[in-house]
Amino acid sequence: MELDDHAEDLASDLGVDKEEVKSDLQNLVEYSVPVDEAKQSLRRKYGDGSSGGGATPSAKDVAEITPDDSNVTVTSTVLTAGKRSIRYQGSDHVIVEGRLADETGVIDYTAWEDFGLSPGDTITAGNAGVREWDGEPELNLGESTSLSFEEESLDVPYEIGGDAQLADLQTGDRAVTVEVTVVECERRTIDGRDGETEIKSGVFGDESGRLPFTNWEPAPEIEEGNSIRIENAYVQEFRGVPEVNVSEFSTVSDLDRAIDVGSAASTMGVGDAVRTGGIYDVELVGNVIAVRDGSGLIQRCPECYRVIQKGQCRTHGDVDGIDDLRVKAILDDGTGTVTAVLDDELTEQVYGGTLEDALEQAREAMDQAVVADAIRERIVGREYRVRGHLSVDEYGANLDAEIFEESADDPAARATDFLAEVDA
Ligand SMILES: [Zn+2]
Repeated sequence: MELDDHAEDLASDLGVDKEEVKSDLQNLVEYSVPVDEAKQSLRRKYGDGSSGGGATPSAKDVAEITPDDSNVTVTSTVLTAGKRSIRYQGSDHVIVEGRLADETGVIDYTAWEDFGLSPGDTITAGNAGVREWDGEPELNLGESTSLSFEEESLDVPYEIGGDAQLADLQTGDRAVTVEVTVVECERRTIDGRDGETEIKSGVFGDESGRLPFTNWEPAPEIEEGNSIRIENAYVQEFRGVPEVNVSEFSTVSDLDRAIDVGSAASTMGVGDAVRTGGIYDVELVGNVIAVRDGSGLIQRCPECYRVIQKGQCRTHGDVDGIDDLRVKAILDDGTGTVTAVLDDELTEQVYGGTLEDALEQAREAMDQAVVADAIRERIVGREYRVRGHLSVDEYGANLDAEIFEESADDPAARATDFLAEVDA
């Protein structure tokens, strides 16, 4: 549904002017409030009594709540509560996000009012809104929610607080606490929503792995080589991989212990890896089943560095291209496929020659496709171990390779398998 249709929907439901509703809606959506949430919040603003249905909804266990419920009453323990700022109608608005649990299960929530929630609190939320996110129900605690704190705590089988290891973090996680070493860090000036601002970005590491981060309000403790504890960070997707966000509401403190940054990437099946939606550091093993077009000897635009065809950049028109080497290899392990993207150095390795050699070969053949053909001949049908950043987005599943080496898994067993296939 287009924004226009949503606005029409709301306007007719609420009996208010469509243009007014539309501009409010646009505002919220621009600041990445999901459209369903934005609509719900506008229903509250324009006073639609219907979502409450009048009577207090019946009490439910967490596990019983489904996206089909519109409103519920639920008693639960606050596992995490993290503040985050969003822009709403031109001004900053602080929301609290986290997870609630009872004996039966866990559910994410967003509080639009400051109820003063802290981890460990046991609360009853009367008339909490339910919305669907990624097929799962989530709770909205807002103006129409009556919230009370319970004396008696629940015995929940979940850990209170947001302690996590980097390898376990997923896009959408809120109020997480991590203890990490700053592996890489740089200051950058970006064009933010309040004009130019300075931020820090880089890579965190802990025993479990590594993840990129952005520090929106530069904390002095975040410097390369430092070991730090961060409370109340959140995880958002950036360029197809999860990223730790350290905001003005996060607490950063120095740690007096060193943290060993694990060097092992998580190894998983291709299918499982793709289903995670993106991993910063992962190792996949599979057969190269094809080398895609746009591999081998290629030309890039000198302005934007994108790959060009026949001297034409889509943005910059007729340009004098820069020669480069690249491979886009389709890796398949039987559970799924990804495109492994090799930079110039890795491409030189699999090609067995330099850029000069490639240019020479192309000149002799009067066809630059011979370079991709040579690479194809070398790698298609062989098994490789590939480590790098996996991003999954509208461009597909791409593994930006840092390591690309022929798999050394028991060659004898592979030979036997191969012979069995040939015999069959
Ligand atoms: Zn260009």
